[in-house]
Amino acid sequence: MEIEIQSEEELDNYTICHRCHTLHRNKVLADGTKALCTECGAVLYQKNRALIKNGLALSISGLIFFALANLFPLIKVQLVSEEQSISVLSMLFGLIDGGYYIVGFFVGFLVFVFPLMVFMIYFVLFLALRLRKGRELSRDLLILLAFVLPWNMSDIFLISILVALVKLFGMLEVQMGVSFWNFIAFVALDLYMTRNIHIGELWELRDEVYRRKQQ
Ligand SMILES: [Zn+2]
Repeated sequence: MEIEIQSEEELDNYTICHRCHTLHRNKVLADGTKALCTECGAVLYQKNRALIKNGLALSISGLIFFALANLFPLIKVQLVSEEQSISVLSMLFGLIDGGYYIVGFFVGFLVFVFPLMVFMIYFVLFLALRLRKGRELSRDLLILLAFVLPWNMSDIFLISILVALVKLFGMLEVQMGVSFWNFIAFVALDLYMTRNIHIGELWELRDEVYRRKQQ
């Protein structure tokens, strides 16, 4: 099918499949339905008003997991005579104490500041949508979210902890702390949200929420 696009506004009527890059003309969906790619079956966009309620619950859970993951030690290592606890923050301070300022600074942003920001943005955004308040605020938050999302690297951090653990297991006695399981729960939730909530959908949801308010 040949599609000719005359103006930039017209682009808003089309969606490109993120998996196979086929172009589709947008259709108005009923609540609770999804638009699938005609070529590969990937989900293009969906309409789901329950997303606001679910998103709010998920972001609150995420913030709780994040707090618990950072308040207590991730792992405890038994050295010759003493036991040492390692938490995310103690590791960051360790890097800075050791003179690795730049590494410490970047790691701090990638594994602490950005993941926290993402979940705080989700929380305030879903809360604003739920209350139908803060039209401008929600726009700014969505722009910020698109900017911060690619820099949230807690999943990569988890994998590197697991790799380090596998290596340590043979040499030292390692105990997983409370925070370890919370951190896994946080990353699982984080992956679930990034995979299932698309920014495009949030923009549409936002349009709809404030449009209904004006009527
Ligand atoms: Zn496709």
